[in-house]
Amino acid sequence: MSKRDYYEILGVSKSADEKEVKKAYRRLAMKFHPDRNPDDKDAESKFKEATEAYEVLSDSEKRAAYDQFGHAGVDGSAGGGFGGGSGNFSDIFGDVFGDIFGGGGGGGRSRTTRGADLRYTLDLDLEDAVKGTTVKIRVPTQVNCTECDGSGAEKGSKPETCGTCHGAGQVRMQQGFFSVQQTCPHCRGRGKVIKKPCKSCHGAGLKEEQKTLSVKVPAGVDTGDRIRLAGEGEAGAQGGPSGDLYVQIAVREHAIFVRDGKNLYCDVPITFVDAALGGELEVPTLNGRVKLKVPAETQTGKLFRLRGKGVAPVRGGGAGDLLCRVTVETPVNLNKKQKDLLKELQTTMESGGDSQHAPHKHSWFEGVKNFFEDMKF
Ligand SMILES: [Zn+2]
Ligand SMILES: [Zn+2]
Repeated sequence: MSKRDYYEILGVSKSADEKEVKKAYRRLAMKFHPDRNPDDKDAESKFKEATEAYEVLSDSEKRAAYDQFGHAGVDGSAGGGFGGGSGNFSDIFGDVFGDIFGGGGGGGRSRTTRGADLRYTLDLDLEDAVKGTTVKIRVPTQVNCTECDGSGAEKGSKPETCGTCHGAGQVRMQQGFFSVQQTCPHCRGRGKVIKKPCKSCHGAGLKEEQKTLSVKVPAGVDTGDRIRLAGEGEAGAQGGPSGDLYVQIAVREHAIFVRDGKNLYCDVPITFVDAALGGELEVPTLNGRVKLKVPAETQTGKLFRLRGKGVAPVRGGGAGDLLCRVTVETPVNLNKKQKDLLKELQTTMESGGDSQHAPHKHSWFEGVKNFFEDMKF
C-alpha cells in the first residue's frame, strides 16, 4: 500500500515548525474526529492518517528519520519503523486536545481494548548496526483463534448477550444514597457470555502463536535505539487494535573496535623501531584495510584520526571518525645479536644524555629529585 506524504496529509510545508504542524493536525482532527462523524469510515481513515502524520512530524527524531528515509524510516507496516520515543496515540491526544475536551482525551471511549505493546531485544553485530540489515525474528503473539474467529464460542454457536447487564458490560449498584456504576460481575464487562466455549481456545478467542517478522534495521543504529513495528504487538481484546512491537537494539562487543556514538576506537600495536623511525601501518576499518603513516618519534597513547571512517548516525549527519590509539610494543624473544645491538644503542644514547634521547624520562626523574629535596628528611 503506497502512502501519502505526511506533509501533504497535514497540508504544511517541509519547513513548517512545531506550532504549524500542531495547528494543522488540530484542524484536521476536529473535522474528522470519530465522535463528530459516527459510522463514517472515510472520516475515520482520514483521522487515522492525520494522526499518524502528526505522530511523526511532531517528534523531532522521527521527523528527521522521515525526512531522510521517507516512510521506510518511520513506517511500521512497511516492515521497519524507527521510533525513538514513546509517542503513542493517547499521549498525542492529551497533548493536542487537552484544552478542548478538558484533558480527558476526548470522551466516547469504546469498550474495545488496545493490545499491549511488546518489546523484543535484538542483538546485532557492530557491522550490521553500522551498515544496516534486515533480520528475521520470531516472536510469540496472541492471534485470533481461527476455529471460532476470535469470538470464543464453539463453532456454530455465538456469544450471547449477557442477561445481567443486557450487553452494557456495566451494572448500576445502589450503595447507600449513591448509585454506582460497576463492571458487570457476570460477563466481566464483556457484555456477552459464552455458553459453549470454543474447544480450541477454551473461550479466550485468542491463541498463542510464533510469528516470523522481517525487521528492517536502518544503518547507523546503536544500543538503546528502538524500531517500532506498528500493530505487531499483542492482539486487542474484543476486536480492539493490536499493540506495537518495539525492537530494542543491543550491539554486541566487537573484537577490534569500540564504538562511542559516531566514533570508533581501536588499539594498534607498533614496533618500537617504527615508533622511533616512523613507518607505514595497515589499520582495519569497517570497510577494509587502510594505510596509516606514523611519524618518527611516536609515543604510546598517541591517537591518529581517520576522518569519516566511523559511523554515519541513523538520525542523520556526517560519519564520525576512526581513532587509532598506538601502543609501542617492547620487543620480546631477542637473540644474542639483537640484545648486543640494543646494548650498543643504549651506550650511544647515554653519551648524549637522557635529556637528549629520552626527555620524558629525564624530566620525570628531575621531578622525583625535586620531590625528595623538598621533603627535607
Ligand atoms: Zn476459539
Ligand atoms: Zn454482563
